[in-house]
Amino acid sequence: MPDHYAVIGNPVAQSKSPLIHAEFSRQTGQDICYDAILAPVDEFAQAVTDFWKQGGRGLNVTVPFKLEAFRISSRVSERAGAAQAVNTLVLEGDGIFGDNTDGAGLVRDIAANLQFPLAGKRVLLIGAGGAARGVIMPLLEQEPRILVIVNRTPQKAYDLQRRFSSSGKVLAVNYHDLYGEHFDLVINATSASLHGELPPVPAGIFASQSLAYDMMYGKGHTPFLQFAELQGVKNLADGTGMLVEQAAESFFLWRGIRPRTGPVIEMLRSRA
Ligand code: NDP
Repeated sequence: MPDHYAVIGNPVAQSKSPLIHAEFSRQTGQDICYDAILAPVDEFAQAVTDFWKQGGRGLNVTVPFKLEAFRISSRVSERAGAAQAVNTLVLEGDGIFGDNTDGAGLVRDIAANLQFPLAGKRVLLIGAGGAARGVIMPLLEQEPRILVIVNRTPQKAYDLQRRFSSSGKVLAVNYHDLYGEHFDLVINATSASLHGELPPVPAGIFASQSLAYDMMYGKGHTPFLQFAELQGVKNLADGTGMLVEQAAESFFLWRGIRPRTGPVIEMLRSRA
């Protein structure tokens, strides 16, 4: 019997994780099966318990359960603790280990795949939801000159500044504070693109040679990437690479083997 893994969420039908992990398993020769579990929104913990009872070994957790996955973990990694959100569960002995691989996935995509080193850079993170808080600590570990966070509900950005200020130079601002500012890297971690919307960032925030990164993936150029392109930004990336890299990090946690991500990123891009 192959070892059993799954992604759990609601909705979950759109998830590309089963496809990605099928490719990883084929590539590495690991005998696993990986599917998708739709859990009722108020029955996440029960669905996880049922999965372990059926012999499951590990889970990826997606919207809207990352905070609950943090709460049900008996032990968490430092990065998951900082984010207070978990996207990967591993069954270990009698307990559950929770980790958050989103930030490592983002950093690997930017620094390794896109060859954009973060050290000394001015970085703007737009958004303060689950995805944003998962990437702050891994971004700070790259030692940017400053990490500025802006969010539609400003209080959430200020809370993040407070939580992460001991880990690096973090500054929360309001959108109107961004006029006249320039950033080497602008990351859209809002869900605005999901609704065809653009967060209210002013024109002119991109420094020359900057990278515009939208965590959203699979829909061609998002409104945010179109906005950046209109400003003359040449380096544009969607979240496909982050998606595959965070999956590879989960696969490594479960199987101890790092799959090659390049071919899988290419495969997803060719299907988008
Ligand atoms: P959340 O619902 O937790 O947070 C949404 C964030 O977007 C909040 O900061 C919210 O602001 C902001 N927002 C929503 N609409 C607008 C708008 N019209 N203008 C400005 N701000 C807006 O979502 P997640 O953090 O989980 O996900 C965010 C995005 O990241 C999604 O597009 C998701 O697909 C993507 N993602 C990609 C991953 C990848 O591997 N590539 C991994 C994880 C997420 P407010 O606080 O004011 O509500």
